[in-house]
Amino acid sequence: MRFSLPSLVLASTLAAVSASTLAAGSINIYSARHYKSDEAMYATFTKETGIAINRVDSDDVGILNRLKSEGANSPADVVLMVDGTRLWKADQDGVLAAIQSPVLDKAIPEKYRAAKTPQGTTWFGFSNRARVIVYDKGRVKKADVENYEQLADPINKGKVCTRSGSHPYNLSLFGALMAHWGEAKTQDWMKGVVANFARSPKGADTDQIKAVASGECAIALTNSYYLARLIKSSNGEDKNIAERVGVVFPDQASYGTHMNIAGGAVAKHSKNKADAQRFLEYLASPTAQEYFANGNNEWPIVPGMKLANPALKAMTRGQNFKTDDTSISTIAANQAKVQQLLDKAGFQ
Ligand code: FE
Repeated sequence: MRFSLPSLVLASTLAAVSASTLAAGSINIYSARHYKSDEAMYATFTKETGIAINRVDSDDVGILNRLKSEGANSPADVVLMVDGTRLWKADQDGVLAAIQSPVLDKAIPEKYRAAKTPQGTTWFGFSNRARVIVYDKGRVKKADVENYEQLADPINKGKVCTRSGSHPYNLSLFGALMAHWGEAKTQDWMKGVVANFARSPKGADTDQIKAVASGECAIALTNSYYLARLIKSSNGEDKNIAERVGVVFPDQASYGTHMNIAGGAVAKHSKNKADAQRFLEYLASPTAQEYFANGNNEWPIVPGMKLANPALKAMTRGQNFKTDDTSISTIAANQAKVQQLLDKAGFQ
């Protein structure tokens, strides 16, 4: 999405602050998070700090384009994105500021943030999403979908559905697989997945889950929160869908399930870096981590947080699961290659 200057009008202003708290200032957030449950999280920050939040909503690509075109005049203080590779790209494009934050260095595991340089760290993950496999319990044996590799197994011919291979969620997963397998095996795997398609890639993750439930597909990839949303839905049809499908956290016997991050950074040309950093540090607090987990069905990224989300518990049967240790930076660095391999495999 492109923004023209008049659209600088802020999409939503969440600040209901008194004149006295206004003195604490305000921050402008460019956000690709569009989740209702986040509103309460922002409101709590403003209540605790007196810092008002002005939010401009776009998607990851729209935010990056806007930051680049605005340059030093950008009013952005904080950038929130929903894919690690995109944060990495924003960093490469020089639109993020490095910050020194002992709080964030301690709270956020290294694999989920940018490498620290003498100037500091640019981006940080604040929540996690697992890329899981869902399957038709009537048509597919769980043993046949226990890892990502099996999506290419001929036993699953005609059963696999996915959104576009070039969507960031898939690019990041495939980048992680390439880190484990190398180029040649990843290429063969992609060809195998294409040969197993029940239909050409289309739709978003929720559409894949629905297509498994309707019988059009039997196996699909989805981010975990989309399934959790269906499990928690008060709509009977959604609940039926969630009950029909089984879920696997892939590769528990080897390198673990791929996790992508939603994260953020201070914008390079922020005029209020102190408050922007304070907001990022708030996102790593137990209060915000609980909003991510219990409100938006993501996994908290800060170790040791308590989960009180019945849908996440149901999906994991209350068990811990093994997560892939490949760093987001490693995954992101594989992106250009992954796209080439997809093109060669005819994986749309
Ligand atoms: Fe999403």
